[in-house]
Amino acid sequence: MSVWAILVAAGRGERLGLDRPKAFAKLGDEPLLAEPLRRLEACPWVDGIVLVAPPDWEEPAILVAEEEGCGKVHACVTGGETRSDSVRAGLAEVPADALVVLVHDAARPLVSDAVVERVLAPLAEGWDGVVPGLRVGDTLKRVGPDGGVDETVARDGLWAIQTPQAFAADALRRAQASGSEATDCAGLVEAAGGRVKVVEGDPRLLKVTSEADLERVASMLP
Ligand code: C5P
Repeated sequence: MSVWAILVAAGRGERLGLDRPKAFAKLGDEPLLAEPLRRLEACPWVDGIVLVAPPDWEEPAILVAEEEGCGKVHACVTGGETRSDSVRAGLAEVPADALVVLVHDAARPLVSDAVVERVLAPLAEGWDGVVPGLRVGDTLKRVGPDGGVDETVARDGLWAIQTPQAFAADALRRAQASGSEATDCAGLVEAAGGRVKVVEGDPRLLKVTSEADLERVASMLP
């Protein structure tokens, strides 16, 4: 089974308020991108990596991959306007004979072998996609623009979904080609009629969106 990872790192990360894209924000002494790259490179389940970089940051992204000795990185492509566009650009570089595609957000630096193993295993049972998630613990309310509560949403069966997300390569390619929109790749596969399973995620897969998140992830570095 050949497993290819697409590492999407092309977001602007405007909420961090930096002079550079989020993937190049400092995590400890290094650009954030170095951490997930190093982890996917060392992951025994991953055969090849396609890196998706922000426009005009392709060279620095390749440099990070070289400095980390990432021999599994076969291509670095320019990302698009939306995350879906960036995944599409990455998928175009995944070899036709890849059986499984793993899509991961660079903004979730602390990816582990254990979670990769958890999302890959059910594919052998015929699932089209497998995603990690955490059960929602808080009460959920839909809130109107004036701050008033419109509705309290029943949280039974609700999970917050993370990456890495694993897909049978043909299912992801078909879903991408259908042209529908979704906030994650699994949503596209679901919209195309694919069967997607949720497995236990990892609280350390926190997505960096703010300065405080960067500090929390830095405090969790080994
Ligand atoms: O913007 P957000 O934090 O939801 O992005 C999630 C992941 O998708 C990040 O790793 C980001 O770099 C990536 N992304 C991308 N291309 C975009 C938008 C986001 O590769 N146009």
